[in-house]
Amino acid sequence: MSFSAGGLLNEIGIQSPANFANHANPLVTFGECLLDACKGITNIECQDLIQALAAEDIDALGQMANPLPFLQSFALALSSIRWRKSGIAPPGWTHIGHCERCGPVYLWAAIQVAGCPWCWNRRHDLPIPRPLDVTPL
Ligand SMILES: [Zn+2]
Repeated sequence: MSFSAGGLLNEIGIQSPANFANHANPLVTFGECLLDACKGITNIECQDLIQALAAEDIDALGQMANPLPFLQSFALALSSIRWRKSGIAPPGWTHIGHCERCGPVYLWAAIQVAGCPWCWNRRHDLPIPRPLDVTPL
């Protein structure tokens, strides 16, 4: 069964923005932009983007000349959040950073920070992948 972002939009009652016009390629539909935004991201699908976007977001995307870069960044952010909620460092987070609250953590750079994305996991008793053996504070 092939997946159609446009079909999914219709199925859940979301209309492609009436004023959607991808000027970079006028033949590209909004659904195709959603599908393109998820390419190469293993833990996010088009449906996840649709569910995370508010109706106002979709309207605003319809105003953009080319919403694909925004949708790609949004998909990567959702992907990162999903990995972190699962206690897995997102792709590329291979450096050992140090958070004042969490201790040693995997980050996108070897930096020292007052707070980090893993703080949310710590506060919600979710797992934090550790580069070193640490005792929770
Ligand atoms: Zn932290």
